[in-house]
Amino acid sequence: MIAQVIIDIAAKQTDRIFEYHIPDNSDVEIGSRVFAPFGKRKLQGFVVGISETSQYQGKLKDLLEVVDEMPPLTSELVELSENMAQKIFAYRISILQAMLPRVMRANYRKVLTPLTEKAKKMPLFQGDPVDLNKLTDPEEIAIVKELIKTQDAKIEYLVENKAKNKTENSFSLSHNLDTYLEINKKVRANAVNQKKLLNFIVENFDEFPILQAKLEQEIGVSSGVLNSAVKKGWLNKKAVEVYRNPLAGYDAPEQKKNIILNSEQEAAFNQIKTSIESQKAETYLLEGVTGSGKTEVYLHSISAALKKGRNALMLVPEISLTPQMVKQVKARFGESVAVLHSGLSEGELYDEWCRIRRSEVKVVVGARSAVFAPLKNIGVIIIDEEHESSYKQDTNPRYHARDVAIWRSKYNHCPLVLGSATPSLGSRARAQKGVYTLLRLTKRVNNKNLPQVNLIDLKHVEFAGGQFDLSVELTQAIKDRLERKEQVILMLNRRGFANFMLCRECGYVMKCPNCDLSLTMHKDTGKMQCHYCGYSQPIPSRCPNCQSSKIRFLGIGTQKVQEELEELLPGARVLRMDVDTTRRKGSYKRILEAFGNHEADILLGTQMIAKGLDFPNVTLVGVINADTGLWLPDYNASERTFELLTQVAGRAGRAEKKGEVIIQTYNPEHYAIQLAQTQDYERFYGVEMNVRHAGNYPPYFYTVLISIASKNEQNAAREAFRIKRELQSKLHAETIILGPTPSAISRLKNQYYYQILVKYKKEKNLNTLLHHIQDSAQEVKKYGLNVYIDNEPERIM
Ligand code: ADP
Ligand code: ZN
Ligand code: ZN
Repeated sequence: MIAQVIIDIAAKQTDRIFEYHIPDNSDVEIGSRVFAPFGKRKLQGFVVGISETSQYQGKLKDLLEVVDEMPPLTSELVELSENMAQKIFAYRISILQAMLPRVMRANYRKVLTPLTEKAKKMPLFQGDPVDLNKLTDPEEIAIVKELIKTQDAKIEYLVENKAKNKTENSFSLSHNLDTYLEINKKVRANAVNQKKLLNFIVENFDEFPILQAKLEQEIGVSSGVLNSAVKKGWLNKKAVEVYRNPLAGYDAPEQKKNIILNSEQEAAFNQIKTSIESQKAETYLLEGVTGSGKTEVYLHSISAALKKGRNALMLVPEISLTPQMVKQVKARFGESVAVLHSGLSEGELYDEWCRIRRSEVKVVVGARSAVFAPLKNIGVIIIDEEHESSYKQDTNPRYHARDVAIWRSKYNHCPLVLGSATPSLGSRARAQKGVYTLLRLTKRVNNKNLPQVNLIDLKHVEFAGGQFDLSVELTQAIKDRLERKEQVILMLNRRGFANFMLCRECGYVMKCPNCDLSLTMHKDTGKMQCHYCGYSQPIPSRCPNCQSSKIRFLGIGTQKVQEELEELLPGARVLRMDVDTTRRKGSYKRILEAFGNHEADILLGTQMIAKGLDFPNVTLVGVINADTGLWLPDYNASERTFELLTQVAGRAGRAEKKGEVIIQTYNPEHYAIQLAQTQDYERFYGVEMNVRHAGNYPPYFYTVLISIASKNEQNAAREAFRIKRELQSKLHAETIILGPTPSAISRLKNQYYYQILVKYKKEKNLNTLLHHIQDSAQEVKKYGLNVYIDNEPERIM
C-alpha cells in the first residue's frame, strides 16, 4: 500500500504530495501523523490519501514511523484542509497544523499505561507505565499490541516538557484512628497549627488521601506544616497525576427550571429543529436584539441534536467565553461538554482535545480554532456573535471560522446557526438574498424595554474634575447608582494610561523603534509600551530629543480613567478589565466573579466587557469615548463602532431594574452613533449598505488584500509594483486594483509593509493567478520578502 503525504518542509512550503510505501506492520490511516525520509532528513507529515498503486516510476521509500496510535485528524478534516488550501491561499501543511492543539505541532512522546491488574503484573510493566517509543524487542511490541486490543492497556500521550500530565501532592495516613487521638492529646495547645491539622485528621479520617491544595484550603495551614507532619511520620506524601479539568472552577449553577420559549424563540427554534431532524445543511441567521434570549435558542438546538443521537459544535468569541456562558452550557449538558479556549494551559487544551478525538464528549464549546474540533457526527453548529472579527484569523492560515463552519455543515448534513444582535453586513445581505434563512427575535425576554440611551456631546459639556474625560452628567449618573447600591459598567476601548507622549517644545512624539506606532504610557509598570511588538522603555522625565521638561502625556486609557474615578468618587470600588489585568490565567474569571458578587461597584474595561455579560444589578452603562474606532482608515469602521456601542448598551437593565446608557462622543451627528442610540440595526443596515455601494466595498464587491513586507522598504515597494503589473495584465478592466501604497501602519516589527487591494465582482482567473503569486512568494523569501494574501480581509487598512 502507498501513502500520500503532505510533508512539513519549513523552509519552502509546497502543496506537492509525496508518496511513500507503507511497511507491512504499521497501522497507517488517512489523518495519521508520520515521519518520512526526505532527502537526508526525517520530516513530519500527514497522510492525506492511501492507494494501491502509484504513478511514480522509481522505487518508493518506506515511511519511517507513525507518531500517534490514533490518527489525530479525522478524514473529514483532511478533506477540509484540501478545500481550504484552494480558497485561502495558505499551504495545506499550515492548515493541517492549525487544526491541532499547539503542543501536538511539536514532537511528543507516547506512554503506555497498564490498566488491569493482570497487565500490571507482567514483567514488562513491573507495575509502571512503559514508554512505547523505547520498546525494541519485537516480542514485547507484539504483547503490547495485544494488550491494547483487549483494552488491558491504554495509550496515553505525554507531551514533552510543555504539557506533561500535571501532578499534585497527595497526603495519606500512616496510623489508625486511635493513634491519632493519642498523638493529639500529647500535642500542646499552643502548637496551634499542629492542633488544627490533627483535629482535622481525626474528624476526616475516612476522607484521606487528600490533595495538598485541598488540605491547605480546608485547614488553613501552610505547606510547611504539612511537610513537618510528614517528617514526624503523621502523614505520607506522594505525587499523583491529576486530570486537568478546565471546568473545575465552574460549578454548575442551579438549572433554570424548564424555560418555556416565548413565541418568537419558539418559531426560530422550530425551523432549526426541522433542519436538525431532516439532516439538512441550511444556514440560519438569528438576528436578535441583546437580551432577546438567543442563548436559549442555541441550548434548545443543541438538545434537539443530542436527542437525534448527534453532537453539537458551538463557537463563541474568545472574549465572551465567560464563566457565565460556560456555566450555562455545562449546567445543561454536564460531563459531555468540552471547552476549548486560549485561557486554558496547553496541557488542559490538549486533554480536552483528546476527549473530543476519542469521542468522549458530545458538545464542544470554543473560540475560533474550535471550528476544527475533531468532533464526528455533528448535528448542529452554532456561531454566537457571528459578526465578531476575531472569527477571522489574521495570520497564516487566514481562514474565517464562518466559512469553515459552512463547509462542515454541508459535510455533516446539519444546520448552521449564526447568531447576533448586529449581524455582519455580509451575512445580513446574504439573508436578504435568501442564501441564509433569516430568523428574528425583536423583543427582549419578558418584554423588557431596551435601555434608554443618551448621547453627550463632548464638544459642549462641563467636565468633572480637572480632566477632559468624564462629564458632570456621567459622573452624577454613576454617583446615583452607587447610592442605590446598583452597579455600573464603563467602557473605554483603549488600554494603558495615555496613548502618546508629546514634547511641547520641539513636537517630538515618542515612537516604537521597531514599529510606526506611538508608545503608550503605562503608569502602573512605569513603562512606555508598544502595543504591537511589546517593546518597552522607562517613562522619560525629559524629551529625549531636546531635553526639555515640557513633555505631556496625551490621550486617555483605562488606567487613567480608573485613577480619575477613584479621585472623583472616593470609596467607589472599581475593577479594571483589560489585557493588562487579565494576563494571568484565571484572572478574567476572578474579576467577573467579584463583580457578580458585588464586591465592586464599577466594572471598567475595554471592548472585553461589551459582550455576553449578564449582570442583573447593572443599571448604567457608560461609554467614555465612542470615537476610538470611528475614524480608522477602514471601510468597516462605522460597522464596528455601531456594533460595539449596541453590544455594550445591551449590558444595561437586563433584569427587573430599568437600564440607562450614556455615550460620550465628539461626533454625535455621525449615523453609526445616532443609530446606536436607537439600537436600530435594520436602519443601520440600510444606511450602511448604501455607503458600501457608493464606495464599491463589500458586500457589493469581493476583496483580496495582498501585503508585501520587507526590512528593506525599496525591495517591498519594488515587489509590490511587480505584483500589480502581473495582476493588471491578467484581470478584467472593471476589476479595481488599488495601490500599492504603504499600509496604514507602514512599519511593524522592523518590517515595511506595502499593500495592494483587489476589488472584483467576477474573476475566473483570479484564483489561479493568486496561487501563482503565492508560489512565487516562496521564491522571493530568500531575498527577505514576505507576501501575504488575505482573501476577504476583515480589515483593509
Ligand atoms: P441574548 O443572548 O439574546 O442577549 P440571553 O440568551 O442572554 O439573551 O437571554 C437573556 C436572559 O433571559 C437570560 O438570563 C436568559 O436566561 C433569560 N431567558 C431567555 N429565554 C427565556 C424565556 N423563554 N423565559 C424566561 N427567561 C428567558
Ligand atoms: Zn522636545
Ligand atoms: Zn513596536
